[in-house]
Amino acid sequence: MRALVKSKAEPGLWMEDVPVPEIAREDVLVRVLRTGICGTDHHIYAWDRWADEHVAVGLVVGHEFVGRVDRCGEDVTEFQPGDLVSGEGHVVCGRCRNCKAGRRVECARSQSVGVSRPGAFADYIAMPASNLWHHPPSIDLDVAAIFDPFGNAVHVATAFRLLGEDVLITGAGPIGLMAALVARHAGARFVVASDVSDYRRDLAGRLGLTRVVDPATTTLWDVMAELQMTEGFDVGFEMSGNPNALRQMLASMRHGGKVALLGLPEEPFEIDWSQLVMNMTTVRGIYGRQIMETWYEMSVLVGSGLDISPVITHRFAADEFDEAFRVVGSARCGKVILDWSEA
Ligand SMILES: [Zn+2]
Ligand SMILES: [Zn+2]
Repeated sequence: MRALVKSKAEPGLWMEDVPVPEIAREDVLVRVLRTGICGTDHHIYAWDRWADEHVAVGLVVGHEFVGRVDRCGEDVTEFQPGDLVSGEGHVVCGRCRNCKAGRRVECARSQSVGVSRPGAFADYIAMPASNLWHHPPSIDLDVAAIFDPFGNAVHVATAFRLLGEDVLITGAGPIGLMAALVARHAGARFVVASDVSDYRRDLAGRLGLTRVVDPATTTLWDVMAELQMTEGFDVGFEMSGNPNALRQMLASMRHGGKVALLGLPEEPFEIDWSQLVMNMTTVRGIYGRQIMETWYEMSVLVGSGLDISPVITHRFAADEFDEAFRVVGSARCGKVILDWSEA
């Protein structure tokens, strides 16, 4: 089968002919149809310091996918050949304290598909049945392919109550934009997004948010004054990993405000801790998705009319992966899809 492999410890990925994966009794073999390119995949493609430290040469990469069940191991009863599925990319240990308590998202020893175990940028992937999610046959395949990052967005947007609240989102990449759409769908009053990129502000501007802000020209105080907000934002989603974005967010929250952090800063940095204490701010780190509760929530949101397709801006055949990664690297894109359906 075709697979995108990190064959050398240098920038790039290589399309290789590799054996179809074997499946264990509890596994399912999935014929991959579409995949989404994640920032993580781009780190691996570019071979930065993080990738060099975390990824073994020879790995099949990628973790955002939709496909059809091809074959099931003997112990699998809940899937049939032909079923449309995506997969949760964290394969948990099942034995640690958190796993045993049912908090699988908090597993301290999980493996990551396409980072520490074979990935989805291939014609086939083998996954434990317990990590797969059924899609209804009617779902748009490109939307189904991005349930992994959509799950990050829903996990962020369900961290705190949003009904009637004013929400600030710093970082309008695909996950930030999907979180903004969920916040609007969930009944937030104002949904304000900021990003330094003109491309991403334009994309955000087409999603019906309350305001889209260029932090280089407009302060959050200007926005609050314009919206006649007097006490600051109720809820913040920090999606950029940018130190100034987090500092400005913390300074513009109301007393008792709540902040969800998903963006990963490249380096440690200072924040004003006394402001956090005096303002009684709640800050919560978000990683991955609740397994599988977030998947249930995503299906319900899409089924009840939430349309995340506007965040998908580019589609390529799998063999055009170099061009697709060039677009992702330019950051002048939303979500980029690779189509594996033509073998
Ligand atoms: Zn991802
Ligand atoms: Zn565990």
